[in-house]
Amino acid sequence: LLAGIAAVLALPLSSSAEVTFRSDFESGNATAFTLSGTNQYDTRIEPDYNSTDRQWYYFEVSGAAGQTLTLRIVNTNQTNVPSHWTYARPVVSEDGGQTWVHNNGTISFTSPIYSFTNTFTTDTARVAFHYPYTWTHLQGRVHEWSAHPDCVADVIGQSVQGRDLYRLRITDNPGGPDAGKIGVWIISRQHAAEVTGSYVMDGFIDFLLSEEPEALALRHGAVFNLVPMVNPDGVVFGNYRDNASGLDLNRQWNSTSPSASPEVYYVTLVISQWVSQGHPYHFFADFHSTSGEFPHYSYHPTSSVQPPLYPTPATYAADCLTLVQLVNSYAPHFNPTLGLSGDLDTRLSRQNQMMAYGVLALLLEAGYSRVNYGPTPTAYMTVDHHREVGRAVALSIREYYGLTIPAAEVVGWMYH
Ligand SMILES: [Zn+2]
Repeated sequence: LLAGIAAVLALPLSSSAEVTFRSDFESGNATAFTLSGTNQYDTRIEPDYNSTDRQWYYFEVSGAAGQTLTLRIVNTNQTNVPSHWTYARPVVSEDGGQTWVHNNGTISFTSPIYSFTNTFTTDTARVAFHYPYTWTHLQGRVHEWSAHPDCVADVIGQSVQGRDLYRLRITDNPGGPDAGKIGVWIISRQHAAEVTGSYVMDGFIDFLLSEEPEALALRHGAVFNLVPMVNPDGVVFGNYRDNASGLDLNRQWNSTSPSASPEVYYVTLVISQWVSQGHPYHFFADFHSTSGEFPHYSYHPTSSVQPPLYPTPATYAADCLTLVQLVNSYAPHFNPTLGLSGDLDTRLSRQNQMMAYGVLALLLEAGYSRVNYGPTPTAYMTVDHHREVGRAVALSIREYYGLTIPAAEVVGWMYH
């Protein structure tokens, strides 16, 4: 099951003895650790399973308590986005991956070597490209979310390797009719390493299931179908991008295969069934991550884009921009000026849904690197930054569709 994950590698050392590295755990990636100088170790990022894509690393250091190590990734020229390393800052966990902070030392990049230092205070620590969000963690969250009476979790299919594809259906009175409600589909984690999309989804769902008045309005006026991890095999492998077939799932939406790309096959199937059964469908979003210099942004269409099925008036591009600007109003580090696109490539989720159903469809990318806006422009992205965008998307959907809090629930909310 864990094929493709680097094996434990203990190093014979002449100095600072007993420092060892491993990445043979869920979402782990990095191998060939070698001592290359005083307290300095080199490593390489391994390609995705059945593919050549690579960018993500996640490994464990043992025996380094009290030491400052220089850790170097020496093959960034083989990664998908070499320019990413100019802006990247690793994260470190000293509690086995439960909580994370950015490395406490320096970072530098001279292609192809990305180098950083960290002073370790615990015997074992984990180091990663960005805050990991694993398949196991997602399963625990699905269990928690589905305890809410307005959330029904089910499995829409399995990945290539048989992992469940979860769908959360969230609305008030989930057993009742949904005619007249706003129909929403949101997916995340098509690309295995794009953990920021998971945190955006996580923040979105936590807000949606909260007792905030806007959340009550959303559950009352809309029905949400959420697929929070489309590519669990890639996540488990420690892939950067692809599924277990070595396919980029966000290039398969117009040619899905139940054997090679079942993850997208089942999502497109259940959306098609949802619509044919007469359920409402108005809005689609796909949460990703961006490796670029800039923080969060969203693709939104140029004015020439007008899906034939979109309801009149023909203001598709303007409507998308309105929604994106609302997200920016609730999450100031989200950048609404980036991502203008006239692309009509239906291999991609957003375009496929936009063209096939005439719904408002957004691809939202949350950044791995710096917060370039607001009062702390040199700060790096935190989990809270990503979760804030999820909350902002929920608030934006409520405002865009004018969903109001039912009077009876206002009373109930005010008095409990
Ligand atoms: Zn992506």
